[in-house]
Amino acid sequence: MTKSIIKPLHKAKLHVHKGDTVKIIAGKDRGQEGRVERTFPRTERVIVEGHNIAKRHLKARGPTQPGGIIEKAMPIHVSNVMVICTECGNPTRIAHDRVPQGSDQKVRVRRICKKCGKPIQERTRTTGE
Ligand SMILES: [Zn+2]
Repeated sequence: MTKSIIKPLHKAKLHVHKGDTVKIIAGKDRGQEGRVERTFPRTERVIVEGHNIAKRHLKARGPTQPGGIIEKAMPIHVSNVMVICTECGNPTRIAHDRVPQGSDQKVRVRRICKKCGKPIQERTRTTGE
């Protein structure tokens, strides 16, 4: 297990966003795809829904918290996943592009697929989370 490096907040930016579909390229779930459930920018890790499951053996802590084995998705380092492009469907590296966009034409960073050159669609807001 590599040790987590905690980045300062102003440098903590990931190319993987919540709601993205990613392909896992290393570890026990390599080759599989899943949706990003949560991101941890400061440690550069993401939780992929239903993947990298670890079984936690918990001791009972009183009647409200019974013990047992709980399956929990553990964070994966971002270098071990690749974003799947929403346009061409391939796992790809990401370029960043600053262009004026939206109704107010404000300059925002767009993520561009290195394979097809099209902007990757953000899904965070459309999933209603
Ligand atoms: Zn693409």
